[in-house]
Amino acid sequence: MNNEQPERSGARQSQLTISNNSEGQPFPKFRTLEKLQPRERKSPRGGFRGLYSTCITYFRATMPNPQCELNFSNEFELLVAVILSAQCTDKRVNLITPALFHALPTPESFANTTIENIYSHIRSCSYPNNKAKLLHAAAKMLIENYNGKLPQTLEELQKLPGVGRKTANVLCSVLWHQPTIAVDTHVFRVANRIGLTNAKTVLETEKQLLARTPADALYFMHHWLILHGRYCCMARKPHCERCGLTEVCGFFCKKQQK
Ligand code: SF4
Repeated sequence: MNNEQPERSGARQSQLTISNNSEGQPFPKFRTLEKLQPRERKSPRGGFRGLYSTCITYFRATMPNPQCELNFSNEFELLVAVILSAQCTDKRVNLITPALFHALPTPESFANTTIENIYSHIRSCSYPNNKAKLLHAAAKMLIENYNGKLPQTLEELQKLPGVGRKTANVLCSVLWHQPTIAVDTHVFRVANRIGLTNAKTVLETEKQLLARTPADALYFMHHWLILHGRYCCMARKPHCERCGLTEVCGFFCKKQQK
């Protein structure tokens, strides 16, 4: 899959792809903090367009093929995995789902089993009681209202138990490459820190990212911001020393001036 034309084959087993540098680090060392002097933020030429262009160029170079880190092999499995991933790590979900999908491979099997049985397979993830109920109810609704298939619109997806706007956006983007951006905690934090957005709410962040991201980068932007937030721009202690966006990042430049 190249950067310009994302694979459009729908659901597939996905794996994280991050390019490593020669030292095996997930992000290249563009510079070190010791060499940086406190300074004004460098405004990229062209305002927002320039900032987006700088970030996209950097992300393309460091993460040429970003993908969802949840493992799945069909649309229903991704729905289940994303519901399970709420307040839980993708790593934990990927440990749970092989046995879960082996025992309960279809919406019908989820709908026809007991909530207790679903719970027994997912008890090692966070909030297993609630998630077992949601998965059971979502599978039942899929069977009763949608012939066992996932609806392909944001509005219809959000009618399913356990599916909020973020989950619906993930499904629309990952499965069908619709022009959406799912905003989770990483996307919200990283976009605001860099200055790609200046929104106070998740919905406003989504709208700003959608309006400002060029169409050919839209599919990737969600994954880039998640992966950058997960592995470099962490919430408590961002690794600015190995980030290539220090010259344009509003958060970093403010920190340097203190
Ligand atoms: S410079 Fe630091 S705060 Fe800014 S995006 Fe990079 S890691 Fe995050």
